[in-house]
Amino acid sequence: MVSRIIPVEPFDLVIFGGTGDLTRRKILPALFRRFCAGQVPVGTRIIGAARSDHDTAGYRALVAGAIREFSDPQPCDDDQLEKFLNCLDYVALDAKGDRGWADLAAKISGDRVRAFYFSVGPGLFGALAQRIQSNGLANAATRIVVEKPFGHDLESARALNQALAAHFDEGQIYRIDHYLGKETVQNLMAVRFGNMLFEPLWNSQYVDHIQITVAETVGVGGRGGYYDRAGAMRDMMQNHLMQLLCLIAMEPPAKFDPDCVRDEKLKVIRALDPVEPHHIVRGQYLARGGAEIEHPSYREAVGDPRSSTESYIALKAHISNWRWAGTPFYLRTGKRLVARSSVINVIFKDAPHSIFGPEAGQHANILSIRLQPNEGITLSVTIKEPGQGGMRLMEVPLDMSFAEALGSDGQAAPDAYERLIMDVIRGNQTLFMRGDEVEAAWAWTDPVIAGWQARGEVPKPYDSGSTGPGDADQLMARDKREWRGIKP
Ligand code: NAP
Repeated sequence: MVSRIIPVEPFDLVIFGGTGDLTRRKILPALFRRFCAGQVPVGTRIIGAARSDHDTAGYRALVAGAIREFSDPQPCDDDQLEKFLNCLDYVALDAKGDRGWADLAAKISGDRVRAFYFSVGPGLFGALAQRIQSNGLANAATRIVVEKPFGHDLESARALNQALAAHFDEGQIYRIDHYLGKETVQNLMAVRFGNMLFEPLWNSQYVDHIQITVAETVGVGGRGGYYDRAGAMRDMMQNHLMQLLCLIAMEPPAKFDPDCVRDEKLKVIRALDPVEPHHIVRGQYLARGGAEIEHPSYREAVGDPRSSTESYIALKAHISNWRWAGTPFYLRTGKRLVARSSVINVIFKDAPHSIFGPEAGQHANILSIRLQPNEGITLSVTIKEPGQGGMRLMEVPLDMSFAEALGSDGQAAPDAYERLIMDVIRGNQTLFMRGDEVEAAWAWTDPVIAGWQARGEVPKPYDSGSTGPGDADQLMARDKREWRGIKP
């Protein structure tokens, strides 16, 4: 299948934090892949900006190294890389001072799309927004892109929104949650709203419960300092899992346009009940290995033997609206788990009556939406067990792996960053979080965290390489249910 490339006009993209980890690992390889796919036209200017000194040649060498290291597989040959590097330039600039801004102004011009990517800590967002305006760098087609974490709590998120709103309209602000750029996440909307099959059943009358799992095998790695101040609730639940919850639970938007979609997501967040303390399990991973430690415990990794930050969280949420009243949503995410797996399972109710009798066995239909690895969708259905006398029932999967179903023409589907960056250039905000959505998500999260702090709660230890703390299984067992998705 040949992917359809929607062409764009040459544009200017300034990456503040142009030498940083995110830029080297994600943003530049994504731009290069789109360049190889023919979507970044000749004449485009990509300008890295940071405090350190580089000349143009030195910056291009840095970018070439990053692309060779982090583009896997390499999307095209060295000739193409050379052409891509010709689009790149660099300015040494301080977000908090006057240095470098005039040089940047001299490098961009015209009324073409002008995107400013803030690939820096949130402490610099306000200063950058202000200096872009005071140095006359914004034109009518200016967009700014900001990365997570968007605040630490409701108060700080509000302050960031205000700092950006002082200089830009909401329609110019693109808040990235890269989960929204994943192919399957958008497919979730296609499955729900492009088929007649599911939507009539998509409510508490037919759905028993929904599970969202985002499991990682990695630990905190080099991000220990940041992570220990955030924890799984702030780092994953408040944004990525909350966004998945919104897409699975929202009402059909009138149109697939940014505000229609984001209005519906916002209604879901506002309809969430406060979480009961006994419906939350927090965990922290232990070291792996015996005499030969394979990797350290969470506390060793962050260098704090008394840390009470969670690296795992599971919770039961309720959405109080007509569609979902009475249907629990179980959400969990954690580090150093047994498998890397992001999956949403929609578990339908049992058929109301079995004409085959109790001994035939009964299986609920389950729709599994796999985000990674092996993106795809599986619907489990009940059939007759073949070859048996009498009527015994069994469960079989109707499986659609996207890689198999969509084939390959040598070009991998764009990854999340590729899709999102091109959406910025095209001016499509559908897959970006709006300011009020982010604030509503923090308004739901803050009391949960305040409750742990008030009660002095310590996370439950769990073994690295396990499915998480046993209490999370108990959370399900109390409701006569069990987790699906990752297996020891
Ligand atoms: P990083 O590696 O520390 O890079 C920070 C960049 O900002 C560097 O290029 C740095 O270069 C520049 N910088 C710092 N202070 C500056 C100033 N005053 N003026 C101009 N430039 C300045 O950080 P990162 O990991 O790339 O993360 C960037 C942002 O993305 C953070 O908010 C992070 O939370 C978020 N994020 C990162 C990842 C990831 O995988 N890394 C994932 C999701 C979100 P100089 O020191 O030369 O100025």
